[in-house]
Amino acid sequence: MASRVEPPFGLFIGGRETPGAGGNRSELTDPATGERVGTAAVGSPDDARAAMEAADAAFRESGWAADDGARRGRALTKLAALLEADAEAFARLETRNMGKPLRESRGDIAFVVRTIEYCAGVADKIEGETIPVPGGRLDYTVREPLGVTVHIAPWNYPLLLAVRSVAPALAAVVLKPATLTPITALAFARLARDAGIPDGILNVVPGRGREVGEALVADPRCRSVTFTGSGEIGVRIAELAGRRLVPATLELGGKGAALVFADADVERAAKAIGYGIFGNAGQMCWAASRLIVHESLRDALLERVRRIAEGLKLGPGLEDSVEMGPLVSREQADRVLEYVRVARADGGTLVTGGAPPDDARLASGHFVRPTVLADVPSDSRAVREEIFGPVLAVTSFADADAAVAAANDSAFGLLATVWTRDLVTAHTVARRLEAGMVVVNEAPTTFPQTPFAGVKGSGVGFEQGARAVESYTRRKNVLVQLGGARRRG
Ligand code: NAP
Repeated sequence: MASRVEPPFGLFIGGRETPGAGGNRSELTDPATGERVGTAAVGSPDDARAAMEAADAAFRESGWAADDGARRGRALTKLAALLEADAEAFARLETRNMGKPLRESRGDIAFVVRTIEYCAGVADKIEGETIPVPGGRLDYTVREPLGVTVHIAPWNYPLLLAVRSVAPALAAVVLKPATLTPITALAFARLARDAGIPDGILNVVPGRGREVGEALVADPRCRSVTFTGSGEIGVRIAELAGRRLVPATLELGGKGAALVFADADVERAAKAIGYGIFGNAGQMCWAASRLIVHESLRDALLERVRRIAEGLKLGPGLEDSVEMGPLVSREQADRVLEYVRVARADGGTLVTGGAPPDDARLASGHFVRPTVLADVPSDSRAVREEIFGPVLAVTSFADADAAVAAANDSAFGLLATVWTRDLVTAHTVARRLEAGMVVVNEAPTTFPQTPFAGVKGSGVGFEQGARAVESYTRRKNVLVQLGGARRRG
């Protein structure tokens, strides 16, 4: 059988690949080399409406959503197995399109497989409850699927962040991947068809956010939207969803803090801090981009992190042993360098990086060296805004109150890490941090079975875990008068 990751990629609507109403295609290039990766169909608002119609028809007619959950579970299990069998091809495609090192793409695809397996297990466990009420009555609740759900994904973990919300939702979905990185989602739709998921249950329509994304959210058949992306667009999505009284789950940006206390294991912390900001070239919502370290450890930790930054091997993600890839686009690389300029103009010290690499071999890619900045004033835009690149800002504290205050002094609240050997410090600080997730003595880590959520400017709602399905179902209450005399005893 031909690999499912072979181009050309069309829109995926109603179980069929189509060139789309306008016949437009985007040219995709490898951000590490500028080489051509291939083309993908670009949808229009008309295609968005066609996808919503196909999803709505499948929701009403296929029996998939209302059917035995075990059937959905079996199809998801098969989907996970098909993806696992094609994992290497998917990982290579992700790396070529997005730029991250192959071992990171392999990790992403493994996470997607595990997410689908997990959701397969949940599919026949979507239960209601019985509620005691007075008199001869029976009261119970059932969870019903909402209907067609819309999912809008970003480019930094293209397939992972798409499937993270699609897998628990699979009643009837329309997915819009980012224009820059649509192809693994389109290849994934082929797998879903082969896994026996009925036509129209999963539709994928890449296209410009302002056109296709807004057409999907504004469509009267849209019953919920899950958006992963920037805060600015998240607010726009919330407005559109609010006008239609449709629930929105928003997974937005971050400005994560890594708090390192005086008793921390400095060696382990340094490695994890390197991973937490230079992984995926820092293009991570949960990046630990602010290192807040006890003053007694500041110099030792800064020196270790500097060595890690300078030791990372940059290059095209498909090359063996490459540890950090390029930024996804020239625009993103320029944006990152502009923040470094702002940080320095505001009085910060450049410890290392802050420029493209000298290696002429990398000149056609969008590379930025791993960057460490020290003592950038806390009101600098470089500290307050999300940079979304390999840039770490380091500052120090004298006591736990100051550490917590510095960490919470942010418009965001996604993930924070805490480094200490003291149990009391670990748990009390974890409670005081304004973050949706706290990780103690480890780099940012998550699992399909644990909730992923932000507070403040980092979002509304949550994904992952058994309760993720609640975002795609509604609770209906049924009260039955059983008649007869009131029961006693
Ligand atoms: P973005 O510009 O907000 O785009 C995200 C998605 O929204 C893309 O598919 C985009 O389509 C679409 N879009 C843009 N404008 C739209 C509109 N008016 N209506 C509907 N859809 C629209 O974000 P990004 O640059 O791709 O991703 C980076 C951001 O995502 C960062 O802020 C990062 O922190 C955040 N993020 C958050 C999480 C989390 O779980 N909390 C995870 C990963 C990333 P086009 O690309 O086609 O324009």
